Amino acid sequence: MSAAVKQFRARYGVEPTIRIEAPGRVNLIGEHIDYLDGWVMPAAIEPRITLLAAHDPSACGIEVWSAERGGMVHQLSTSEFKVRSNPEEAWLNYLVGVLAVYGDRGIRVPVCRVGIFSTLPSGAGLSSSAALETAMALLVEALIGKQTSARERALLCQKAEHDWVGVPCGIMDQFAVGMGAEDYLLKIDCRDLKVEPTPLPRAVSLVIADSGVKHALGDGEYRKRRDDCEAALAVLEASSFRDVSLELVNQFRSELGDRLFRRVRHVVTEMRRAGDFANALKAGQLDDLGRLMRAGHDSLKNDFEVSCAELDFLVDAGYAFGPDRGQLGSRMTGGGFGGSTVHLVREEVAPAFLKHLKAEYRRAFDVDLNCFVTRAAGAAKCELILSAPSTR
Ligand code: ADP
Ligand code: MG
Repeated sequence: MSAAVKQFRARYGVEPTIRIEAPGRVNLIGEHIDYLDGWVMPAAIEPRITLLAAHDPSACGIEVWSAERGGMVHQLSTSEFKVRSNPEEAWLNYLVGVLAVYGDRGIRVPVCRVGIFSTLPSGAGLSSSAALETAMALLVEALIGKQTSARERALLCQKAEHDWVGVPCGIMDQFAVGMGAEDYLLKIDCRDLKVEPTPLPRAVSLVIADSGVKHALGDGEYRKRRDDCEAALAVLEASSFRDVSLELVNQFRSELGDRLFRRVRHVVTEMRRAGDFANALKAGQLDDLGRLMRAGHDSLKNDFEVSCAELDFLVDAGYAFGPDRGQLGSRMTGGGFGGSTVHLVREEVAPAFLKHLKAEYRRAFDVDLNCFVTRAAGAAKCELILSAPSTR
């Protein structure tokens, strides 16, 4: 029996009957363009949120407890949805948001007990928020016995994050968590929401390094970038960045002014890089990936200004390990302002690469780097736990 099941039983005194696993995600290229009709290339990853639940008529509403958030059991109403403004309870808004968006569609869940367990760092740019929302959405569907499509579910979860958490995220996170496939990156066209799974060779490992610097996307910078892009689109008199060429951006350089010009240059060049990355991967031209990831990182750092010293350091340390020793590419991943870097390395050198990053980070910042090797993982899923047969 898993440690999570034991903890659930100890907490609630009942057996869980539903187990949901929702992976985190890492994005390889196409950063900050998911909300601008661009292409992104994320993968679901092995670290995940596990949600255990039991439908239990004696529960007081929906009782929820997160092992990562202390011992407290919180009660959520099945019918009245309120934003929690106390910072200690802010994480509940992801769950309330999901209940509310399903509630808007006439779906009311029965009372139950819920335990949340995680191997996914939170606030590290690896989408623990989307994993939490998706796990909750799968729970709602399991409890009412009716499944929606992965795409519809992802859109509902995105709406929950917009309306109940106040983060105007794009669709990448929820799509990657809900539609990931083992050993595949997903090329997502954020304009028409088409998803094209693209194989990642098994000889390539994903290394993720959590800088330990916490971002605060809800706190304004993310929104400012979105506002900048909207303002730039108005100057360019375009309705979508997909219709904007670099030549047009250059023509409007003085009208845009320095800041907006750099924001748009990131968006337009990142769209091109995402397409080139997908083509290089399909053609097996792994050596091109590093150049594109390096250019993507530099653009996020200099033009979009969402990197930080720790991320820049980790990316430079990645390239210092060297392509000739099996490092294929490195860049920051996720919204930025802290969070994580992602590195593609040849499978056989992954342990040496980890050791190198950890040693360099300790030397520079005197802290332990949380760094791990992972593979592209499968999508979030729900299973019913059958009770063990009686031994009497
Ligand atoms: P990211 O999605 O990159 O991890 P976010 O800031 O979008 O970063 O989401 C992190 C938030 O998600 C946390 O602050 C918390 O509210 C919630 N969260 C993530 N994991 C858990 C967990 N195991 N238990 C409770 N809340 C969690
Ligand atoms: Mg998030």
